[in-house]
Amino acid sequence: WAGTSYEWSDDVNITLQNVFKLESFRPHQLSAINCTLSGQHAIVVMPTGAGKSLCYQLPALIKPGLTIVVSPLVSLMEDQVRSLTKKDIPAQLITSNTSREDSNAALNILKDKNSPIKLLYVTPERFAKSKRFMANLQKCFADGRLQRIAIDEVHCCSQWGHDFRPDYKFLGILSNMFPKVPILGLTATATAHVLTDVQKILNIQGCLVIKSTFNRPNLFYKILEKPSSQEECLTILEKLIKYRYKGESGIVYTHSIKDCEDIANGLRKRGLKVASYHANLEADARSKVHIKWHDKHYQAIVATVAFGMGIDKPDVRFVIHHTISKSMENYYQESGRAGRDGDRAECVTLYRMQDLFKVSTMVFTSVGSLDHLYGMVKYCLNGTLCRRQLIAEHFDEDWGNADCNKMCDICSNPNSNVREINLESHCKTLASIIENADKQDTKLTAQKILDAWFLKGPVNLRHKGKEPSISRAVGEDVIAYLLVENYLVEDFHFTAYSTISYIKKGPNIDLVQDPDFTLKMPVRKYS
Ligand code: ADP
Repeated sequence: WAGTSYEWSDDVNITLQNVFKLESFRPHQLSAINCTLSGQHAIVVMPTGAGKSLCYQLPALIKPGLTIVVSPLVSLMEDQVRSLTKKDIPAQLITSNTSREDSNAALNILKDKNSPIKLLYVTPERFAKSKRFMANLQKCFADGRLQRIAIDEVHCCSQWGHDFRPDYKFLGILSNMFPKVPILGLTATATAHVLTDVQKILNIQGCLVIKSTFNRPNLFYKILEKPSSQEECLTILEKLIKYRYKGESGIVYTHSIKDCEDIANGLRKRGLKVASYHANLEADARSKVHIKWHDKHYQAIVATVAFGMGIDKPDVRFVIHHTISKSMENYYQESGRAGRDGDRAECVTLYRMQDLFKVSTMVFTSVGSLDHLYGMVKYCLNGTLCRRQLIAEHFDEDWGNADCNKMCDICSNPNSNVREINLESHCKTLASIIENADKQDTKLTAQKILDAWFLKGPVNLRHKGKEPSISRAVGEDVIAYLLVENYLVEDFHFTAYSTISYIKKGPNIDLVQDPDFTLKMPVRKYS
């Protein structure tokens, strides 16, 4: 698609330079643009920051008519409309925040044959909930003005994705309702499974999928063992930020607003210039923090995942995860804010078993979310495979013999002499601990299982054998490993204050009875 010349090719190049003021296309942009201008449905899969917006913003200016952009996030829509307006590209949005007057005006754009507006941004609820919007959209189509429908974050259609949004399902009617109007789906995070599902839901099976690599060669990936006390965590963060990343900018991602505040305070007490950023801060305060970080007044932002949108700082040299992300998709996106300028940057994650439950008790209610979380845990537990390869394979990218160039903790430390432990007897012991507790009508959390296993805690819950030969830290890894491999499963219970994750036997535990059963886990070496 990129190599051929079309009747619009000159216009496309002129628009790129004169309107968008860009010198050249990034990989895959031109293919996506040519494909959609040819009237074909397509899905574009590119990492965040790769330049997906241009794939529908530029084509919108090439032919007469209107491009509808469906986007789930109002702030993102506002950002885009603002930046388009700055470039003198006529764009509008309708959101729940839009006043009645403004949204009437926006709805008229659909009917008005002389409207100069080229891009109209809407949230997916519009299609589900506004009859008037749909009627006007029909009119726009009947007038031959509906040029294209771009659907941002298109993975939200699929229940298998990490961010399913029910309103996206209504977009399934569009391809039938508006035949010959090309649909352009865009996402940063689609596995083959999700992509097939998205095509089915949108009824555009077999459409062209344009997928760029997810490899970020300049990012160094690393897992660190997370200590149990906050003070010790602060010491690790302090050392990294004060010495290793001296004079450089970065982000520390935390799990909750409380963690975010505590860690920011702790680091400030240790003399570091950091600020916190989370959803409880007023928009004003947030944007001040952002700007001061941008200008290097703050070295690091300690943030919840609320910090992400609109970060366009190219020289972020480190992204540290104080707690694991809830999926590899989220992790890729958050860590990917490092090193946009192409220079070396580091992505460090602090992992310990307890954080698995911290996240699982928050996310377990949505479909597929535990699988996504366990994917993240597998990445952390891994002690033998290149982290880059794991990321590539997660996004169904063929890694082949591609080279990491020693840019992850595994590849840069190949002689770490990884030890494998046989889990057979451990599995049996753990199963017997759970069965014994069942008989006593007692539910066990992972911590209580660890106690019973290491012959601590109540005597009636302990097993009859010897104390295991592995350390308790490795024991934690074993339990996490057995969870992600379905030998054990989480069972959630609610109290007035919190959700508790108890551990039950999982579907695979029966395999342990097989005389030929073996399950080996490489023990991680932290570097
Ligand atoms: P995505 O939607 O994939 O996350 P964006 O569309 O927001 O990414 O683009 C990220 C940044 O890259 C923007 O600042 C944009 O101006 C810039 N960009 C996009 N295309 C190009 C290009 N061809 N050349 C240079 N910069 C580009």
